[in-house]
Amino acid sequence: MKFKDWIESFTQVVILLLFFVAGCSFMVPDNDDNLASYSEGFVQLSGGKVDIADVKDINIYFKTQDSTTIGTCYRLANVVEIDPSYFYQSTPKRRVELVFHELAHCVCYRNHTEGKLKDGCPDSLMYKTYIDDQCLKTHWDYYLKEIYNGCEK
Ligand SMILES: [Zn+2]
Repeated sequence: MKFKDWIESFTQVVILLLFFVAGCSFMVPDNDDNLASYSEGFVQLSGGKVDIADVKDINIYFKTQDSTTIGTCYRLANVVEIDPSYFYQSTPKRRVELVFHELAHCVCYRNHTEGKLKDGCPDSLMYKTYIDDQCLKTHWDYYLKEIYNGCEK
């Protein structure tokens, strides 16, 4: 009964899940080469705010997500999972958006934003849902700068 009480807290269930992921690291696949190049890009575009050391411990790989999820960052386990069907069906900007969004969760400890720019586009790649192609195109340079807010050490 004590064990049941213990796992009833949502937070503790999440921690248990993260512990499970971390504890089973031998089952976690190595970095996918394609995704690793996005991690390197995340460092290169940061202008020194993110070091290669910050991303080298992040294990990033493809794994099919549930129907409402396209990527997941497990902060404590240093794991980023990217949904392969979404990724391969996406435009290049959408792919960057997804991978950088998850990396900013895991590397910079950023949380979701809910704000909008004057034209109605989301205020950040950290927006709670994916951003449409027109907004990505219009604000691409801004988004690539904004994503590093909070990455400074
Ligand atoms: Zn997110």
